[in-house]
Amino acid sequence: MKILITDVLTVTMDPSGTIDRLNLLIEDDRFKSVSKSGGASPNGDRTIDGTNLLALPGFVNGHIHCDVTLARGLGDGLTLYEQDHDSFVSQKGWFKDQLDGEARRLSRLLQYAEAVRGGTTFICDVPFWHYKDDLVSPFEEVGVRGAVVLDYRKNFLTGEPVEEKEYFKTAQTLRNAGILPVVELPAEEDFETPLLLRLYRRACDLDAPIQLHLAETVWRIELIRKRYGGSPVRYLNEIGVLSERIIGSHGVYLDDGDITMLKESGAKIVNCPAAEMKIADGTAPVAALMQKGVDVCIGTDGALWNDSADMFREMKVLMLLQRLAFGAGSMPPERVIRAATIGGARVFGMQKETGSIEEGKHADLVLVDLDRFHLVPHYHGARSNVLELITGCATAADVHTVIASGKIVVDRGRLTTIDEEALKKRCQDLACRRFRDLD
Ligand SMILES: [Zn+2]
Repeated sequence: MKILITDVLTVTMDPSGTIDRLNLLIEDDRFKSVSKSGGASPNGDRTIDGTNLLALPGFVNGHIHCDVTLARGLGDGLTLYEQDHDSFVSQKGWFKDQLDGEARRLSRLLQYAEAVRGGTTFICDVPFWHYKDDLVSPFEEVGVRGAVVLDYRKNFLTGEPVEEKEYFKTAQTLRNAGILPVVELPAEEDFETPLLLRLYRRACDLDAPIQLHLAETVWRIELIRKRYGGSPVRYLNEIGVLSERIIGSHGVYLDDGDITMLKESGAKIVNCPAAEMKIADGTAPVAALMQKGVDVCIGTDGALWNDSADMFREMKVLMLLQRLAFGAGSMPPERVIRAATIGGARVFGMQKETGSIEEGKHADLVLVDLDRFHLVPHYHGARSNVLELITGCATAADVHTVIASGKIVVDRGRLTTIDEEALKKRCQDLACRRFRDLD
């Protein structure tokens, strides 16, 4: 299929940093040509008039627990520790007990649909339960690409491990479907050197990245200091696990020494600013990480902790929080958009394939409707306000069209891949049955 988008104000996020009115020609799953507007005659199966649209690379959402979406909004007002150890939520276990196979499947579909509708074309899903769940079809049904982080346990509540053969089989099933398998390391309270080394070797055998929740909370940091005498980053470095395979989620409590070690090892960070504010984790040194050249991307985290998967809102939150903590000049809009696009591609090793609008790359693209009060005026010349509009004004609801690997998955604000109304109704009905009357 050929799609031509004409005269569209485009932020390419390629190395040249081009912002200009361009014609974008997509053929099959790739950008065939990216050229100055003017002169292109409609020669596609579909031509989109881009005059009042803004084009951006599709977003990479680097950390999101999609199997708990039906529990959206629950457990509010609690820290992570309280949610896990010391509250009505943990004592009754109600958001966990209600999430059986059917609820987890609907949770995934709902979260993927929400993400894609808002311009995300790559999701890194971190399920709490993956064992025996169908991990592939929700990606295919919604039309998004992504990664799945695989816990070494069948059930994180019981700790029973998945047999290694089964684990490898799941990873292969994902890979066969074009989904990146990622090995999960336990959170810091479950750190044990032999286990971490075993899982590190597993990631090497699978040639897969590794994800772990890294330096997210004070209580976990203190635990590691008491047990191992240093920070989690130093400890991982000492045992030989800190490497370019490592994707640390959150990275809130990192000192200068940690940041240097992350940079030297090639490890990456996924920051989830809204979640870290909501559960009062703290403020991550994202500006310093990016200034030092550590690859950083953005995650929205799961619906229990955010509660939305709107990458525009996440960019704004990241920018404002960094500025409040580290100064008005600490986080320019270009750097925030970088984290949401090409930075995310780099974190997952896909920078040659996606993350920017360039000839030959996967056609992963968001078109934003500029015909909105909050996006007027928009201009790009000697002076430009385009990047500021993206990070400060636009929201997921302004997304007009999303193209993922050359396929139109959102067309004028509607998902083309699934029956939106049917999915919403099923999720609404099931969540009400499971959660509404819990005491
Ligand atoms: Zn998480």
